[in-house]
Amino acid sequence: MKIHPREVVVGILIVIGIGFDKQWWTIPREWNPWQPLRISDPLTPVTQWKLERLEDDRAACLAVLASLPDDALRYTPLADYTPVAGCPLSNVVRVQRSGVTFNRSFVASCPLTVAWTLYERHRLQPTAREIFDQSVTHVQHYGSFACRNIYHRENARRSEHAAAEALDIAAFRLANGQRIEVFEDWGDDDAEGAFLKQAQQGACEIFGTVLGPDYNAAHANHFHFGMRGFSFCR
Ligand SMILES: [Zn+2]
Repeated sequence: MKIHPREVVVGILIVIGIGFDKQWWTIPREWNPWQPLRISDPLTPVTQWKLERLEDDRAACLAVLASLPDDALRYTPLADYTPVAGCPLSNVVRVQRSGVTFNRSFVASCPLTVAWTLYERHRLQPTAREIFDQSVTHVQHYGSFACRNIYHRENARRSEHAAAEALDIAAFRLANGQRIEVFEDWGDDDAEGAFLKQAQQGACEIFGTVLGPDYNAAHANHFHFGMRGFSFCR
């Protein structure tokens, strides 16, 4: 009897399918798009996809936030509302603090809040420990919500800030009191410059849009971490 190559392929596929079903082998949850996101999971290219799915699933998104201890995130879920005519907000929370304190609380979409906590745990703090042997304790931001179009232009599309889907980060403070500012330290050939570069690179693995001083003059003094797009990093 002659076995056709196509029958071999079909046979292999069936065995693989049964294998997954019987859990002879499993995909690690951080690589499995159908497994819910956990903050403690290592980052993979699938992480951004999982974050995007949380945009339409408030319950699942809030469950991720609720899984965090109080010292990793303090927040208040907000009912959908329209703070400024033309910019309704949905699926948002008010963030009081995360593992770091902020200059002031801010309204953020739930997925942006998840993205920030992922970033802090998996990229920001490890970078600070690696370069300074310190943790970041405080972050200065320039806000998350602004009812406007990009570049304040009338005919441009709505900014990510109009939906509270982006956070502008200006500076970091370390446990020893040292302050690192995007405006002052970006591009410097020293530890602060290296920290900022690495802090931005790390954000690109999580946020959909990451902009900094190299993008344009409007970002000379802050990083823009936004949820739209996929690894747009400048
Ligand atoms: Zn921004």
